[in-house]
Amino acid sequence: MTETERHDYDVLVIGAGGAGLRAAIEARERGLRTAIVCKSLFGKAHTVMAEGGCAAAMGNANSRDSWQVHFRDTMRGGKFLNSWRMAELHAKEAPDRVWELESWGALFDRTADGRISQRNFGGHTYPRLAHVGDRTGLELIRTLQQRIVALQQADHAETGDYEARLRVFAECTVTELLTDASTGAVAGAFGYWRESGRFVVFSAPAVVLATGGIGKSFQVTSNSWEYTGDGQALAMRAGASLVDMEFVQFHPTGMVWPPSVKGILVTEGVRGDGGVLKNSDGERFMFGYVPDVFTGQYAQSEDEADRWYEDQENNRRTPDLLPRDEVARAINTEVKEGRGSEHGGVYLDIASRMPAAEIQRRLPSMYHQFKELADVDITAEAMEVGPTCHYVMGGIAVDPDTGASTLPGLYAAGECAGGMHGSNRLGGNSLSDLLVFGRRAGLGAAGYVAGLASRPPVDEAGVDAAAAMALAPFDPPSGDLPGENPYALHAELQQAMNDLVGIIRTEAEMTAALDRLDELRTRVRDVAVEGHRQYNPGWHLALDLRNMLMVGEAVASSALRRTESRGGHTREDYPALDPQWRHRVLVTRRAPDDPDPVVPRVVVEEAERDPMRPDLLELFDLPELEKYYTAPELVTHPGGEP
Ligand code: FAD
Repeated sequence: MTETERHDYDVLVIGAGGAGLRAAIEARERGLRTAIVCKSLFGKAHTVMAEGGCAAAMGNANSRDSWQVHFRDTMRGGKFLNSWRMAELHAKEAPDRVWELESWGALFDRTADGRISQRNFGGHTYPRLAHVGDRTGLELIRTLQQRIVALQQADHAETGDYEARLRVFAECTVTELLTDASTGAVAGAFGYWRESGRFVVFSAPAVVLATGGIGKSFQVTSNSWEYTGDGQALAMRAGASLVDMEFVQFHPTGMVWPPSVKGILVTEGVRGDGGVLKNSDGERFMFGYVPDVFTGQYAQSEDEADRWYEDQENNRRTPDLLPRDEVARAINTEVKEGRGSEHGGVYLDIASRMPAAEIQRRLPSMYHQFKELADVDITAEAMEVGPTCHYVMGGIAVDPDTGASTLPGLYAAGECAGGMHGSNRLGGNSLSDLLVFGRRAGLGAAGYVAGLASRPPVDEAGVDAAAAMALAPFDPPSGDLPGENPYALHAELQQAMNDLVGIIRTEAEMTAALDRLDELRTRVRDVAVEGHRQYNPGWHLALDLRNMLMVGEAVASSALRRTESRGGHTREDYPALDPQWRHRVLVTRRAPDDPDPVVPRVVVEEAERDPMRPDLLELFDLPELEKYYTAPELVTHPGGEP
């Protein structure tokens, strides 16, 4: 038996971003002993970086907004592949979650009459994003942390122990989920302290994964070092399934210069507040890129687009605010056709659109980001921007109502869960997703624990295997040979994903990507690290590589299988949306016949999305649905043939 530090909880939440914190608060409020584990400092989750805001149909900026309009926008953004039940719950519950945050102390920007202010964002019919300047994620995390402290103070008052029911384990990385050997149900998790390298085992009958996305598998990304697909890979290795992994969002506006900051996000709020995209000819090129499915919904002239910012009742929105997949592809085309900016992007101009003081007031982080990192004054000149890997729509397959995965005891929420956003996420719909489904996963996990007759025991052989796997890079099979360098392998993986499974895909390139991943899978066995277990970033990366390789294969294999273009999956060899694919989702799981403990292979299978409930389908007009659905799917629509 491996000697390790041991902890016992009812619910273990892995991840301290918005989803993890909201899940933990819910589990603790149901009276369960809850642990939060996160691999970075507490308070430094990815959610902190969220800039533009949190989408919720509160109707503060336009009283015509409602959950039905938000639902419709979300389904359109996802090209009707979304889990409609998740989109429904999300649209209905997001306002309550925002008001709840306010009651816990969040200080949102206000409208002139004192209500929570809401801003425009791509794909949202009305101004809908509750925000705090361009630092919304920071306020969201601050508020959730404050709520956790309040709960800990209540526990202290009752028991004399702040951590009696809620404890945070920061800078602690989970490398494997642990299961009950006889039932396969989740029983806990294995990890290490980043500072000391010592191992730690958590026993818990319910585990909530809230580990975020996969961006660090790509070379140009807005994501931080934490996004290495850990939750998705942990879930697959333990036996759960992923869904929709071919859909990766490339945000249209990342910084393109200087190279050291390439990929860092420029919030969509810049366009929401009036900024416009231009090519090297000074042309506002987005007017030429409105796709057929959105015909009639966007302004056709610059005058109308500009009037829309002031009068949304009588004008159509600017195509600068088309959904992200459309804008990213348009920028890609402009650059490819020689109308790009000096450093290979396009121009984003807000300087000529409003006074400098107003830009600094509305977009303080953007102002400082460009001034300090690129020596560009965005109040005086245009920014250079281009697509950057930003978000993964796919993730762990979950039950919409409870967040339960396909593995008993395992729950997931936030960016690491799949389904909600279909083939493309609308900006602002992630922060609301974290709150709605974080709460639901906490509730689901608490209900599951309450219904258990006994706690599943941790399989000690699993603990020993996880410890051996974690130590392998200190003693690679290559022995005295230099072994593989984790940083070099990571760079090769990022290059392959960027070049071969990026924004525009072809069969030949994805096949080449799978060959490259196969080669890297073999080489990762020989990855070698120097030094000891105390704070050793090379070792940490060596362990993360297993996850990135497994998730990379899930993305490439699913993308190869889907022979159409939809949302965050564009095939040069299959450029059209195919209604035959609309109701088909791709499910990825660990290959059952591959015993490889290092990077097991994945298999991809097709499954059917449940047909949308009739009352929800009727929220859309028939002519719109006909752009996405097959005729037999629409016979029950009231507008259809009798
Ligand atoms: P995160 O907030 O990333 O939290 C993940 C947590 O998991 C972290 O605590 C991490 O340490 C932990 N973790 C990961 N792996 C492990 C492991 N193996 N062991 C232990 N802990 C682990 N969305 C919007 O809706 N509006 C916006 O304005 C917006 N702006 C954005 C701006 C930027 C620059 C970026 C990058 C994203 C933005 N997004 C926005 C997207 C949104 O921020 C994320 O999708 C969301 O914050 C993800 O939250 P999460 O709780 O799922 O994960």
